[in-house]
Amino acid sequence: MRLGRAAAILSAAAWIGYGWGAQSVLPFLAVRRVAAGGRRVALTFDDGPDPEGTPRLLELLARRGIRATFFLIGERAARYPDLARAIAADGHEIGNHTWRHRNAWFLGPAATAREVLEGVRILADLTGRAPVLYRPPWGIVNAPALVVARRAGLTTVLWSVQPEGLRPRSPAEQLRHCAHRLHDGAIVDLHEAPGLPGAPERLLALMPGLLDLLADRGYAAAPVGTLLAASR
Ligand SMILES: [Zn+2]
Repeated sequence: MRLGRAAAILSAAAWIGYGWGAQSVLPFLAVRRVAAGGRRVALTFDDGPDPEGTPRLLELLARRGIRATFFLIGERAARYPDLARAIAADGHEIGNHTWRHRNAWFLGPAATAREVLEGVRILADLTGRAPVLYRPPWGIVNAPALVVARRAGLTTVLWSVQPEGLRPRSPAEQLRHCAHRLHDGAIVDLHEAPGLPGAPERLLALMPGLLDLLADRGYAAAPVGTLLAASR
């Protein structure tokens, strides 16, 4: 009994270091906003590519002359390679949103490394350019994820404005959220694929209002990497 209890305490302590410990240092290691100077923000689109949403989003961004950062899921990019290439061809930045979008708290070290590195490999193969930015799914990491990402030369990027998180929010609510929270150097976390059911439709309904809001407030949009380069 005693041994069992000690083992339970030890494994709980190990898990706290592995998952919660890594999570608690993440805010100090990850980029959440960029002090790049000037009225600039970064729009970031997670979870794609998506055969319905991505082409419409690309068209909208091209029409408004906006370049953004797309955090693509490796297995989706492999399923829709033309879309991944189209995103890159339009001058957007592509970041790594891992291979299969798994929750790092339920992955061992080897599986964690595979999630991060397979994402890099697939996106590099498809676009001819290895991603240098990494966004962990849901912003959830474990200790190996941080180590592997750092060794692979990836900068971990979270966000400072998230109009829709774990629950669906109407485009109007999302726009109000942005109007309250926008700031210089903001990194806005948006979702161009489900994830949450209906996310691409809500995003496409949000985008015209969001781009008008940026213009009204005098904000230009640029990819995360551009803002990071300006801040160094
Ligand atoms: Zn995601």
